[in-house]
This record gives sequence, C-alpha cells and structure tokens, in this order.
Amino acid sequence: MKKIISILCLTVCFTACKTSKTDINKAIENISTSYLAGQVSEIGSDKFMGRQPFTEGETITINYLEDQLKSLGFEPAFGESYFQGVPMVEILSSINEVTVKKSSKIFKLNAPDDAAIISPRLKKENRIEDSEMIFAGFGIVAPEYGWNDYEGLDIKGKTVVVFVNDPGLYTGNTDLFKGREMTYYGRWTYKYEEAARQGAQGVIIIHETEGAGYPYTIPRKSSITSRFYLESADSNASMCQFTGWFSADAAAKLFNESGYDVQKLRMEACKKEFSGFPLDMKISLNIRNSIRFNKSNNVAGILRGSAKADEAVVYTAHWDHFGIGEKEQGDSIYNGAVDNGTSMAWELAIGKAFASLKKRPERSIILLFPTAEEQGLLGSAYYTSHPIVPLKNTVTCINNDGLLPIGRMKDVTITGYGQSDLDSIVRIAAEGQGRYVAGDPDSHTGMYFRSDQFSFVQKGIPSLYCKGSNDSREYGKEWAALQIKDYIENKYHRPADNYDPESFNFEGIVEDAALAFRVGYEIANSDFFPKWRKGSEFRMGK
Ligand SMILES: [Zn+2]
Repeated sequence: MKKIISILCLTVCFTACKTSKTDINKAIENISTSYLAGQVSEIGSDKFMGRQPFTEGETITINYLEDQLKSLGFEPAFGESYFQGVPMVEILSSINEVTVKKSSKIFKLNAPDDAAIISPRLKKENRIEDSEMIFAGFGIVAPEYGWNDYEGLDIKGKTVVVFVNDPGLYTGNTDLFKGREMTYYGRWTYKYEEAARQGAQGVIIIHETEGAGYPYTIPRKSSITSRFYLESADSNASMCQFTGWFSADAAAKLFNESGYDVQKLRMEACKKEFSGFPLDMKISLNIRNSIRFNKSNNVAGILRGSAKADEAVVYTAHWDHFGIGEKEQGDSIYNGAVDNGTSMAWELAIGKAFASLKKRPERSIILLFPTAEEQGLLGSAYYTSHPIVPLKNTVTCINNDGLLPIGRMKDVTITGYGQSDLDSIVRIAAEGQGRYVAGDPDSHTGMYFRSDQFSFVQKGIPSLYCKGSNDSREYGKEWAALQIKDYIENKYHRPADNYDPESFNFEGIVEDAALAFRVGYEIANSDFFPKWRKGSEFRMGK
C-alpha cells in the first residue's frame, strides 16, 4: 500500500506542482540537439584515442569530463576531486593454439577464430594439459526452478562446456525460467561464476548469436584485447584457470566427432530430466598472460540537494571504450561515438538541465561516469562498493548506454521491465511526451545485466536503463529494427562506431534525456524509494 501511495504522490506532483512547472520546462530547454551534437563530435573524435583505461586516452577523457562538470556547476564528488581511483589489473592473454584430443585423433583450433579463450589468473604461464571436457547443458544451478545442470557430474579440475542463455529462450515455454526473457542464469558472467563455484578448471560457452545477443566477433575481439579486473586479494585464484567461447562452427565440428548434433543437443538440454556427460575429449592449451597493475578512474560530480543532500539519485554513462586496436577498413581507433559517446552527452545534458533549475531538487544529483564498463561493469562495481552517498540513501541509478541517434521514437523501452515500480514513473513521463512504455523485445539478450545500472541492482537498488529504441515516430518498427541490426552487425565494438554529422539525428536522444531528467527530478523531490516487484530475482526473500 505504501508503495502505491508513493507512486500516487509522484503522479500528483507530475500534474499539480504548478509553481515548479516553468522552472522544469526551462530546465528541459537546456537539453538540445546542438548541445548533444557538440558533445558527441568532441567525445567521439580521434583526439580521445578510443577512451581506453590506463592510456593517454583516459587522461584526455577524464580531464574533459572534469571540465564539463565544473562548467555545469557540479561540485567534485570525491572530496576535493572529481576522480575516484579504481585499482585494477590489466591482463592480456595470448594463445598459440588450442588442441582437442579424442582418443588418437587430434583437432587443432585456431585462437581466436574458433576458440576465444583467456585466463583471468594473475599468472604469467597457464598451461592446461589434457583437461577432460564435460558437457553440462546450460551450466545452471537454479534452486527456485528446480534446475541443476551440474547434478551428478564430476567436474573438479576439468573443463565444462555449456550453452549460452537459458532453456526458456529455446523452447519459448513461458513456464520455463522466464520464457524468452533472459534470466541472470543465461549470462556468460553467471556461467563463469557457477563453473568456478563447481571447481572447474576451465569453462567454455558454445556461441550462438541469438542467445548471446551478439555475434561471435564480440567474444573473439575481447579475447585478444586486454581485459581488466578489480584488484582482488586472491589474484583471481577463485576464478577458473581459463574461460572462453567456442564459435558455433568449431563446436559443431567437435560435437559431431562425438556423434552429437549441437542443435538437437541444445533442445535436449532444455529438458529438466537431461543430464550432462563427459565428451570423451581432452583440451590442451598454453596461455601466456602479460599483467599490469594500474589505476583507472571513475569521474563524478554532485549537485547537493536543497533538503536531503545525504540522499541521491545517480545518473551513469560509462566513459570507457576500446582504444586503439585491430584495424578494420583502414581504421584502428575505436571511437565509440554511440558506445558510449551519445549516452555521455545524454548525461551531461541532464546535468545541464539540473544545474539550471532555480530551485535545486531536495535530494542530491550525482553524475557518475564509470570506467571499465566494457570490461564487466568494473568502475560501477567499484563505485557501489565505495559510494559517496551510502547505498541505503542511494535512491536509484538511471543509466544509459549506446543511445542510437536515429531520431524521435514512440517507445520508451525499459530493459528489465517488470522488475521494479520505477516502470510506473517512467510511464507517466513517457505519456507526457506522447510515448508508450514497452518491455525489451530482445529481452533474451539480458540487457538489464549488461550495463552499469546492474552494479546498483546487485546491491539491491532498483535501477533504470530505458530509452526509445524500437518504434520510430517517422518510420515505424521495421525501420528501427533495421537500424539496430545495422549498428550491431557493422559498428558495435568496431572502429566504424564513428560520429557522422550527416546521419546522426539527436532528436530522440533529446527526448530520452528530457524523460530521464523528469524521472530523476520527480524522485529527487519526493520521499519515494523504488521497490522490487514480486517475481523479480532481485527481491530479497522473493
Ligand atoms: Zn556501452
């Protein structure tokens, strides 16, 4: 009941706070296409060198953000500083060749084309010799669904091979997990964590584009790029010795050798009574790690609240990208204009709107630009372990990532739709713009677990990642789907993610920023603490 009352109060404020209405509308005018274009043309330019942590590109990026926050009138969030040092370790793994033996036969797999494997251990030499391979279905242990892919399998010190995603996707059965929507059990991060808990030496996921949500080029690329970890006391000894992916083709070949058809096996593994089995194969490889300790930085500014400065709404958009790397079509700078230049611009524009208010919000507003999101949400994970406002007073995180500059959209798509009562507040703000709220049509890709709001979610704070993405006001849904497809296939995490003044249309991002400002504004002027909905896997005590 309390929850409903809070939402009602917000509804009332949305419609009745006349005194602040002109103030709000004026503030929103600060969010303009020219401001966004100016930011993205700057942040996405070669000068930022692809914004890779630990490089000169980091220095340039964080100094730029500091200047922006200062000029907006946001105070340093970390004492005297806008920077929060994030101690990390950078590991670059290299492998010559992966060998799989089946009795007298030997198969050679090319790394990274067939197998995208790395070692997360802080050890220079990681020799894996004849590690027995065990197939363990989807690699899931989910007591609430009565599911245990590891039951009866002896995998201590062995290598587990698992499918990506969860059985709900492939059967379409809505009673199985969450149907097509990916649960956290479907994420590769979960599969690595669970395999390590089970004591496996190595874990390999069989790639499949729909279930992963991206093509094999993505894990391939990250296996030959430096990876970052937060510094840990055990030098990552609690993680598997090696982790990675097989391409779909490589997996099909290997499984065929054992008389299995991967597609059929996947459907078998969707059955509750299915049990994994030894593949009668042994994998050998030698991974050399070059290891470097270093500090990267989160950047944040704060606009202190007028009444409850010790409570805060946090906005996030990661600043990092992939720097300078493998050349494609003559271009080696990974500018990340969309990932995540447009969202950084979105966040700065929101900050500009807040800073322009005559009357500051009651609660504080934090603009946080986390580092190392691309490496597994590391900057935001570090921040939520070292927050400037205690977590119990951190009301919500409103994040964005990869905002596509394709014009005004009818939809406001909420990733993790149905998880929390934030949905209702977004709906009110969306309706005010003549838009509708929708769940993610691609919820099988688990986007809710794939950007910085998830670090807050893991600490129990209901958080938002929403944007217009699937229904263009001008050209409709099919057109929007084509734009997304083009971006994912040709630009996402590739040097082609460049700013193009001709084609970038910021009008939709203006609306998304205005919406996120509005949502944050209402929450920052209320006593409302969002709650998880029943059935959310993040609700304590379920
Ligand atoms: Zn991103």
